[in-house]
Amino acid sequence: MKAIVIEKNDDQQTTTLQDTNDELLSAGDTLIDVEFSGLNYKDALAICHKPGVIRKWPMIPGIDFAGTVKSSDNSAFKPGDKVLLNGFGVGEVHTGGLAQQARVKSDWLVPLPDGISAQQAMAIGTAGYTAMLCVLALEEQGVMPTSGDILVTGAAGGVGSVAIALLAKLGYSVTAVSGRQELQDYLHELGAKTILPRSDFEGKVKPLDKARFAGVVDVAGSTVLANAIAQTEYGGVVTACGLAAGMDLPTSVAPFILRGVKLIGIDSVMAPMSKRIEAWQRLAQDLDLSLLKEMTHIIGMSDVEETAQQLLAGQVRGRTVVDVNRD
Ligand code: NDP
Repeated sequence: MKAIVIEKNDDQQTTTLQDTNDELLSAGDTLIDVEFSGLNYKDALAICHKPGVIRKWPMIPGIDFAGTVKSSDNSAFKPGDKVLLNGFGVGEVHTGGLAQQARVKSDWLVPLPDGISAQQAMAIGTAGYTAMLCVLALEEQGVMPTSGDILVTGAAGGVGSVAIALLAKLGYSVTAVSGRQELQDYLHELGAKTILPRSDFEGKVKPLDKARFAGVVDVAGSTVLANAIAQTEYGGVVTACGLAAGMDLPTSVAPFILRGVKLIGIDSVMAPMSKRIEAWQRLAQDLDLSLLKEMTHIIGMSDVEETAQQLLAGQVRGRTVVDVNRD
């Protein structure tokens, strides 16, 4: 089988596309013929040897994949079943999706929802599933389309693109924040009503700024998130899922104690199975799948490394899907 393999020798890491065999695969009760894997921000960090993602070498990266069960010791899964997987340490401490086969625990598998193909599932990928988790959190906290505008940061990236498409289809008015003003047409096509430059959110953070958003989906963290919190309306809800701008959060307690703003953390990796199934069912129901084509590009295995570098440089629009059976 073909696999992208990251190896480490004397603190020096290498990423190569190899012809290898299933001995490299981590232990698990189910073997999957992988069809597509997503290229996520976290995968790009791993492939470009940034610290903090891979904790075991050699490693096959790829935090998500969709494919077909080849064999399983769990009677709930039979050969031919279509499945997908997000997270659970796959592509970090357990060999991942950037290979033609994956061996995983059946407890981690989500049946492919009706109406979504393996390719579409990875066009949505961990980024889209995380966007859905953010939308579910806004709903659970009572933010409705009538509540007011929703801010989406990192708008032209994977999480941002799917969040905009979902929120717009659900009837929310979406304000997109992007560092790439040349992508305005794309963001409007996804459903963004207003587009603001990222620089508006990179300045000095006031404890409280003009309140104008009922909800936020933030992928940036750092000053961008702090400014978004300062501009959230009384009782508004901020969902934080990413760190594209940085890990820090230079805010104060003012928005929380004076405006009752709620900050909700979103984790996709260890989310319970019931939440995953709910999120994927809602994606099948609420995402306009025709928009996926516009927001996705498909690459072969030999393009992975270069695309990962572009992704970290903020040059990739929307979602990248890897056809693991294409060179
Ligand atoms: P992408 O690389 O596809 O998108 C990130 C976007 O953030 C870019 O397209 C860009 O959008 C914006 N951006 C880039 N650099 C900066 C910067 N310095 N400051 C502010 N914005 C910036 O990544 P994903 O959408 O896949 O992931 C986004 C974040 O969410 C990542 O940090 C990722 O690790 C995290 N994540 C977390 C998950 C979880 O479980 N919590 C799951 C999935 C992702 P634009 O050009 O429009 O400004």
